[in-house]
Amino acid sequence: MDLEDTLLMMPGPVPVAPKVLRAMSKPMINHRGKEFSAMFDDCTAMLKEIFQTQNDLFTISGSGTASMEAALGCTIDKDDKVVAIENGKFGERFKDIAARYGQVVPLEFEWGQSVDLGLVEEKLAEGAKAVTMVHNETSAGIRNPAEEIGKLAKKYDALFIMDGVTSIGGDDVKVDEWGVDIAVVGSQKCVAAPPGLSMLSVNERAFEAMTKENLPYYLDLKAYKKSADKSQTPYTPAVPLFFGLQEALKIVMEEGMEARINRQATGAAAIRAAMDAMGIEMFPQLNEFSDYSNTVSAMKAPEGVNSNDIKKGMMDKGIIIAGGQNRLSGQIFRIGSMGNVAPKDIMLTIQELELVLKKLGIVNEIGPGTEAAASVLDTL
Ligand code: PLP
Repeated sequence: MDLEDTLLMMPGPVPVAPKVLRAMSKPMINHRGKEFSAMFDDCTAMLKEIFQTQNDLFTISGSGTASMEAALGCTIDKDDKVVAIENGKFGERFKDIAARYGQVVPLEFEWGQSVDLGLVEEKLAEGAKAVTMVHNETSAGIRNPAEEIGKLAKKYDALFIMDGVTSIGGDDVKVDEWGVDIAVVGSQKCVAAPPGLSMLSVNERAFEAMTKENLPYYLDLKAYKKSADKSQTPYTPAVPLFFGLQEALKIVMEEGMEARINRQATGAAAIRAAMDAMGIEMFPQLNEFSDYSNTVSAMKAPEGVNSNDIKKGMMDKGIIIAGGQNRLSGQIFRIGSMGNVAPKDIMLTIQELELVLKKLGIVNEIGPGTEAAASVLDTL
């Protein structure tokens, strides 16, 4: 199948606008020249608005994981304790990174289960230098309680290091108000830029915590700060990706964050309504502090069905959705509503999904899912 005919409906990378693609094919520029610095400043200003932060903000040429590692690698020394909250694959990744630098205090929940704030408080009360949490756990389609963790971190004087890789730019993420000391996003997710860059905000408290003798080299956030103060990056940046990022961020600004959040959330609500109408169960187990993700919806494959068959059926129709990762492989399927995904993309996905589910004998009729999704999207 021609790649240009496929519709990416997975939780990143997401489709990027034609003008973003065109921007990436511009001639290279001097990364130490005025033109780059102007672009750097423009991107940083737009990102601060999206992060709702006044903190320092850096763009690293490296995917989301690079910024996750920068956050922990700079703040955590070998004897420091890190409470690592895990209810999905990316919480596990934070835990694994933390283990490379310090002492992990794992706080593991079943993937897709809500975080128990009482247990987080218990662990923090025992003393820790930091707590890590994924705000929007992409692998399970669940939104974790960032504001509450921010309060607990403050109460017990721990740094709050938050993965906002699939929430920032798609959800109302109040980095400063919630007391997030370091927040991370990836370029290929809600801001709909190409993959390869990650951005992170770092506050004064986090810088003060960087007391270890040897910071990582490429991911030394103090070096990023020193350069950013001169509108530069410490090492050669991925210039074409910056060109693309700048155009993608302009699209975000033109739409406005409120409208953008509403569109992505309504897309997710439409997907959930369709699933309900088709008798497909959502995967997350919510409590009063968690919610379904606004940017990626995770559904259980019905009893006796391998979710990879659903994914394959969709792929044959030119629509790329995601399956379950690692231990969830075959059990769940996931549909993204992040980035610039339009209502018509959601509609096409649900219509085709209904056909795939009928063919697999999971639903008996065509129509209820499509109608349910349409009625939600009509509210946009
Ligand atoms: N954190 C979350 C929540 C993610 O969804 C992802 C990627 O899907 C990552 C971290 C890792 O980001 P990357 O693959 O850009 O390194």
